[in-house]
Amino acid sequence: MRVAVTGGGGFLGSHLCEALLRRGDEVVCLDDFSTGDPANITPFLGNPAFTLVRTDVSRSVGVPGTVDAVAHLASPASPPDYLGRPLETLAVGSRGTENALRLATQHDARFVLASTSEVYGDPEVHPQDETYWGHVNPIGPRSVYDEAKRFSEAITQAYRTHCATNTGIIRIFNTYGPRMRPHDGRVVSSFVVQALAGEPLTVYGDGKQTRSFCYVDDLVRGIVAMLDHDEPGPVNLGNPVELTVLELAERVLTLTGSRAEVQFHPLPVDDPTRRRPVIDRAFARLGWIPETGIEEGLRRTVDWFAARPDGFTAALAAIRGGQQDGVVPARPRPLGATPAAS
Ligand code: NAD
Ligand code: UDP
Repeated sequence: MRVAVTGGGGFLGSHLCEALLRRGDEVVCLDDFSTGDPANITPFLGNPAFTLVRTDVSRSVGVPGTVDAVAHLASPASPPDYLGRPLETLAVGSRGTENALRLATQHDARFVLASTSEVYGDPEVHPQDETYWGHVNPIGPRSVYDEAKRFSEAITQAYRTHCATNTGIIRIFNTYGPRMRPHDGRVVSSFVVQALAGEPLTVYGDGKQTRSFCYVDDLVRGIVAMLDHDEPGPVNLGNPVELTVLELAERVLTLTGSRAEVQFHPLPVDDPTRRRPVIDRAFARLGWIPETGIEEGLRRTVDWFAARPDGFTAALAAIRGGQQDGVVPARPRPLGATPAAS
């Protein structure tokens, strides 16, 4: 099949493009590289089954030739990215989503929306299943992302009801892995890079807030399953193993062997206190279940960052070889240490 992937130059999008190419699909990647990295898709450029259209999908979504499916992933996703691009985030969630829906409708194609666990906001129900309506501050700083995604779900549902478009909604929970930008500000990339560089791990708040982390290969398998299905959703996709942010810091430090310390910083406004998906629906309807544990997923992620040509390799070698050489601070701080005044 021929699949249009908006946001195909990003972290998840590039893994999705790769998985689709690997199974013999044709892929048209639409991206403006506002938060993506062209290096993510450079390896596919020589592949005749891969087409790159550099475009802002909030303005237009034009694809030459046929389209059998549209995976709509374009949107800033990391909090620093969407907080720094509030209007673009609202635009791509609203106009961008409608443009992508129109493309799917014109071609009678399957449409899959990459929504988010953020539609549940700071949840009052735990864990979160798809029947929960959420607890979102509509004018808080995160609303530019949360409400854009909630609108994108609403318009997707409206196209299904009123235009007979074959739509599906997935709600993605925190996902990590190779190709995250080293300085995208998300917790896994931040902790791994900080540990490798021997810089303090920046824990926000007291670090007791929780997230449930899914490895990218598992998540992409779920997106592909949804593309192949007629399931309308919403369907949660995530790994239900829940960790506190402090536990994550601890695991990254253990895995890298880094002696970097943990430093406490103020908790961002409206930062959700806990998050864990119920994934019964994904299993029942798509046969999907995550297979990669946090230990294995983090190890692959650390190895990928360490292999980047920007110095992390040497850092990891130094840490694992026990030669600190100024890379790692000499004074480890116990993880339970009292938070520094913020
Ligand atoms: P990312 O920032 O790496 O990728 C997003 C891609 O969209 C980038 O390549 C960016 O350049 C592109 N883009 C943004 N605005 C665009 C526009 N107007 N026109 C064209 N391209 C545009 O983020 P990601 O983590 O890969 O997230 C992909 C999608 O999955 C997003 O929709 C995000 O909301 C959703 N999601 C991700 C996670 C996660 O943990 N990674 C969790 C929940 C939801
Ligand atoms: N976080 C943190 N240190 C960082 C980055 C994030 O403690 O350097 C926390 C953040 O406050 C949140 C959790 O880690 O509680 C997950 O943050 P991320 O930005 O990865 O995703 P999201 O908030 O969108 O779930």
